Amino acid sequence: MSETAKAHGGQSSTGKMSVLPAVEPYDCVVVGGGLSGLSCAAVLAAARWRVLVCEKQPTAGGCCISFWRKGYRFDLSVQSYSGCGPDGVIGSLLRQLGVENEIEFQRLDPAREYLFPDRTIHLSASLESYREHLLEQFPRERSGIANYLRLQQDIFDEIHRLPVEIPLSAAARFERDYPHLTAYRRARLSDVLAAHISDPRLRTILAVRSSYFALPPSQASFLAVSNMEMNYFAEGVYVARGGAQALSDILVTAIKRQSGELALGTEVKRIRHERGRVVGVETADGQTIAARRVVATIAPTVVFHGLLDPPLASRHHYWRRLASLRTSASYFIAFWGTTTDDLGGSPNANKEVFEDYDLEHEYAALAAGKMDPRAPCFILIPSLVGREAVPEGRGQTVCASVKALYAPDGGWTRERRKALAGQLFERARRCLPGFDRAQIEVTELVTPAVIERLTGNLNGSPYGWAHVPEQVGLDRPGPATPIRGLYLAGHWTRPGGGVASVIVSGRSLATRLLARDDGIGKDKA
Ligand SMILES: Cc1cc2nc3c(=O)[nH]c(=O)nc-3n(C[C@H](O)[C@H](O)[C@H](O)COP(=O)(O)OP(=O)(O)OC[C@H]3O[C@@H](n4cnc5c(N)ncnc54)[C@H](O)[C@@H]3O)c2cc1C
Repeated sequence: MSETAKAHGGQSSTGKMSVLPAVEPYDCVVVGGGLSGLSCAAVLAAARWRVLVCEKQPTAGGCCISFWRKGYRFDLSVQSYSGCGPDGVIGSLLRQLGVENEIEFQRLDPAREYLFPDRTIHLSASLESYREHLLEQFPRERSGIANYLRLQQDIFDEIHRLPVEIPLSAAARFERDYPHLTAYRRARLSDVLAAHISDPRLRTILAVRSSYFALPPSQASFLAVSNMEMNYFAEGVYVARGGAQALSDILVTAIKRQSGELALGTEVKRIRHERGRVVGVETADGQTIAARRVVATIAPTVVFHGLLDPPLASRHHYWRRLASLRTSASYFIAFWGTTTDDLGGSPNANKEVFEDYDLEHEYAALAAGKMDPRAPCFILIPSLVGREAVPEGRGQTVCASVKALYAPDGGWTRERRKALAGQLFERARRCLPGFDRAQIEVTELVTPAVIERLTGNLNGSPYGWAHVPEQVGLDRPGPATPIRGLYLAGHWTRPGGGVASVIVSGRSLATRLLARDDGIGKDKA
């Protein structure tokens, strides 16, 4: 399991690694083996840095993991992502690491469908086709649709020119260089839609993507939603053959091939610093690992008041800023493995089901500690795009999810989980009429607390800090911290949540460290 254990001569019979204190400090220890940590470590290892990834779970991947029950494979969270083409964020990283031919991606087009009571919207992978599809349904909104999508495109272009850190020399020119990011910095999705679109049903259709951030349109950042939406058109929507785990595994392969080290099942309990500079980490099983740099990919509130030893003073301006940030809702997910092969319904594997055109009521219920039975839900049939998710001779995998509170009124009792799974099953059956309860072989129910336990994410947050205007762009914590040599990567930092974004975060931090602009130097430098 652990390459580190091999490098230092010890893997115990329990499978735990036994890292002896290294003679020389690691150039970098990465806390957390999610996609951001793995990408960062892979790029550093490829440049011959001595890198160690400490991951508390026995499997690397964080949110991007798969699990198996009775031979059925399920992806814990990630359903699809962008950037897998040769020049995309993921494709180009894999090429840089020399592993691009060792994983296969499947492009989804149309990527998904939105099932409203009176119509189905097909989300094409092409912006042109999507625009035409909307125009057919809402011909009177021609100029509104054109202007709105063009605005989103302009925003996307500016975001993609934006460096993760703005050098001071460029800060004065920011407004001139990034006029849309400046003008819409504090804009909420619903306000911008109201300014462009008259028909409330079309506003809802164009706002659907806010639900990926588990936020209502009235709270979601227009910039963040535009970036996600346009990213899908620009870079396509994909799944990996072999499921979500395959993407994490290929990064693990890249790290190991370059003699980078991974310590799985190894929880970091402390990040030590002396005189304002990081010196290493301590693991839950009592090992001390010296490091010149530490990259933390977990919630910064946990990093600075939990792991950092000594912790940051509560009056420190950085801590006060962190303490003011908030997370979004999480998810309740039901996974089923069924022997039924023909579930009926449309062949699209990604569906979103809406009972009406109101995207706000479910969040009003959540704010009151309740779950709304009419909340929009996701219905996925992952085995339709990855047959290998199902054991030989069996039917399909189905996954249904709704947004959920970490601690709803009355808690996550067995009765509540069962009742919610029952509701989701009935809703799935409405679009998959052949889905038969008697033929379900496997059921697995995942609450926000389970997501938190498996991924370490505070409150089961799916995308780090909520993507509200006050917490995105330059208002999201950056990679540098007040402790020299301690950095952040992943969805709690810039650019934000989602597979492609956290890979950007990990890769760009590594690139910056390799440029040695932190002045700390490399091993033996
Ligand atoms: C339900 C759900 C659905 C999603 N759907 C999609 C989707 O369809 N498309 C998309 O693009 N994105 C999706 N996302 C978001 C995406 O998965 C995440 O933004 C991204 O994977 C986060 O990567 P990360 O590296 O920042 O963090 P994580 O994946 O959270 O990795 C952090 C790692 O740190 C480890 N860790 C925590 N504490 C410690 C410690 N003390 N010591 C050692 N290790 C530690 C954890 O075990 C974990 O492996 C979804 C997320 C969820 C939860």
